[in-house]
Amino acid sequence: AAKRAGGNRVQIFTDELRAPVQEKIAAEARVRRALAGEQRITLPLWFQPVASSSTGQILGAEALVRMRTPEGEILSPFHFIGAAEETGLIVPLGEHVLRSAIDHLLHWSDRLGYVSVNVSPRQLAEPDFVPMVASILSRLPGFDPSRIVLEITETAVLSSTVDVSERLTALKQLGVRIALDDFGTGYSSLTWLKSLPADIVKLDRSFVAGLAEDPKKNSIIQAVLWLARSLGMSTIAEGVEEPADWEALRAAGCPAVQGYLFSKPLPAADFDEMLRRHHERATFEGVHLRETMG
Ligand code: C2E
Ligand code: MG
Ligand code: MG
Ligand code: MG
Repeated sequence: AAKRAGGNRVQIFTDELRAPVQEKIAAEARVRRALAGEQRITLPLWFQPVASSSTGQILGAEALVRMRTPEGEILSPFHFIGAAEETGLIVPLGEHVLRSAIDHLLHWSDRLGYVSVNVSPRQLAEPDFVPMVASILSRLPGFDPSRIVLEITETAVLSSTVDVSERLTALKQLGVRIALDDFGTGYSSLTWLKSLPADIVKLDRSFVAGLAEDPKKNSIIQAVLWLARSLGMSTIAEGVEEPADWEALRAAGCPAVQGYLFSKPLPAADFDEMLRRHHERATFEGVHLRETMG
């Protein structure tokens, strides 16, 4: 009986081990089907606004990929980005994200300044990555490439087999901007700041949450803001959920905020609606201001 019980336990154990592997294989198959153009499974982009901390004006948006299953379920990137990364499918997936993000930006051209996309380590290491971006830009005459921001994380730099600094320099020569995502969570953030040609620091939400009640967090944020500014970089605070934290960020001179407090990531149609509302408000206030000034 003991042996049977042990056997059962092993059974349970292997099932537990197998589940994530099967999930990964399923996720990979779905990404493959979506990229092959299968109608019932798609990879739509959701958009989360980045706002001016002082005026609340929408400055840009981060494009965040989702998967829509044949059952109509919306899956977060945590369910499929890892599998795509491991199998290399992240390369065509990333290209899809970039192209789609730019299509949306062109559609919102008069109301949205820039769009940012996340670039995974594997994508950045791909020899074709820079030529791919260059080729997309070459088909957009008159388009200001600084309206595209590529977000990279420290893992992309540490795990990379290529010279990331050189690669980022090549991308900057195309005119796109570079953001350091989840800044502060890695081991070598300062080295990273010194050696990479970045334009924007995205302060990780672990430094932002509870900022208003935590003098240490406040000191860290002040220091990062100062450092970024001295290096000619801008800063965006991520994951702003509390009004008090927004106020603390504004007071500390952090120029831009992103987070649930302002808006969660939205499907393109809802984001469009949000832009429309903001645009109307801004236009109204502009007219009002001009009238007031006589
Ligand atoms: P990330 O680039 O750091 O994106 C920010 C994540 O934080 C998003 O999760 C967003 O929904 C979430 N977030 C934003 N504001 C708040 C807040 O106030 N509170 C909290 N708790 N969370 C907030 P999401 O969309 O699930 O994306 C997760 C990660 O997946 C991203 O982290 C990024 O690393 C990756 N990812 C998303 N889209 C892509 C993509 O197209 N390509 C690649 N390579 N990775 C992607
Ligand atoms: Mg990001
Ligand atoms: Mg981030
Ligand atoms: Mg993050």
